[in-house]
Amino acid sequence: MHPVVKPALRQAWRDLRHVQFGTTAAHAVVMGPVDTATGCLLSLFDGTRGLPRLRDEARAIGLPDGQVDALLGRLAKAGLVDDATGGGPAADALRKRPGAFDRLRSDLASLSVVHPEPGGGMGRLAARSAIRVQVRGAGRVGAVLAAALSAAGVGEVEVLDGGRVEPWDVAPGGLPAKAVGERRAAAARQLVRQSAPGRAPRAVRRTAGSPPSVESPLTLVIVAPRDGLAAYAPDPGAAEDWVTTGTPHLYAGVVEATGVVGPLVLPGGTACAGCLALHRADRDPVWPRMMAQWSTPGRRATGPGACDLALATAVAGTAAAHALSFLDGELPASTGARWEVSSPLLDWRSEQFRPHRDCSCGAAGQTQGERASKAGTPHDTMAGVTASTEQCHHADAARRLGFGGAHV
Ligand SMILES: [Zn+2]
Repeated sequence: MHPVVKPALRQAWRDLRHVQFGTTAAHAVVMGPVDTATGCLLSLFDGTRGLPRLRDEARAIGLPDGQVDALLGRLAKAGLVDDATGGGPAADALRKRPGAFDRLRSDLASLSVVHPEPGGGMGRLAARSAIRVQVRGAGRVGAVLAAALSAAGVGEVEVLDGGRVEPWDVAPGGLPAKAVGERRAAAARQLVRQSAPGRAPRAVRRTAGSPPSVESPLTLVIVAPRDGLAAYAPDPGAAEDWVTTGTPHLYAGVVEATGVVGPLVLPGGTACAGCLALHRADRDPVWPRMMAQWSTPGRRATGPGACDLALATAVAGTAAAHALSFLDGELPASTGARWEVSSPLLDWRSEQFRPHRDCSCGAAGQTQGERASKAGTPHDTMAGVTASTEQCHHADAARRLGFGGAHV
């Protein structure tokens, strides 16, 4: 181990004996009291020295034995220390590809802030290269989202869509103007390839242990249709296979100047498209009648939808961040919930969906069981922010179903 005080967190002395690491409420930590000797030692934790050398240098400046290990333990407990050589074999492989590694340095810095254990950020970043994600839709939201995932190190990003690129599909970070007229699927494939930080060796791209002839399973499907109605009011029939196979899926899109991100569906654990449709019909009994009209060929929206570039880009970026959080083993705020934003005020708001008791996905039964067992208690983050009961509830349900935290 080569300990390094996480360089992504700014350091400042609050007074003569207390150091603050980090700026924002979500991730800042105050350590103290810190004596002069400890302050000196802190500067040696820069990732260039292994533990034996650190102990020698501490001894050389007159510090008692055990001081290095005591400080290391203290920093680790506060989530402030990283391991410059950690993260496992996949991380070692990524470090040997300097071009790709340099492209991902800012992503790594973010992950090091989020994940407290030494080497945790690097391990997660490297693990992304073996992940396979499918994005359904190559419009302004889907293409930008797919490019972001690829650029963030996700090894295999498939984009599915039909037809040819229209001028209004073009977006910075998404399909380029020169792709107009090309087949959407081919143009999106090229976009994903060009966005990747570097092509990983074939062995790294595959899930460890899977034979070369077997395609690794999809970790996540993202439904990002060009017509955002299919994300706002998702079709339960289209999601049937994912619910049956237990494939997590996330909805994102823009419909009539309203952007939506979520829900992230963990089949059997959180509300699915069927649950959403049943809840909607409970609240508004004529909704299915209107949906039928909107879906009728000839009455379907044709031509460019109301999907302005800035809103589409915000939705794509937010959805990509939620997807990456899940792929890195967390349960983002879109788990079982939809985040919604409308122009011109752009005030993000969320709606939590409970599984519907009449839905065949079975999540309602799981939820009631979980509730009965009073699963989990809220836990503290580094900054002492208490997680909501709903999030803990999802976390426990997801863990029991085998989702989340299993990708590293
Ligand atoms: Zn359901």
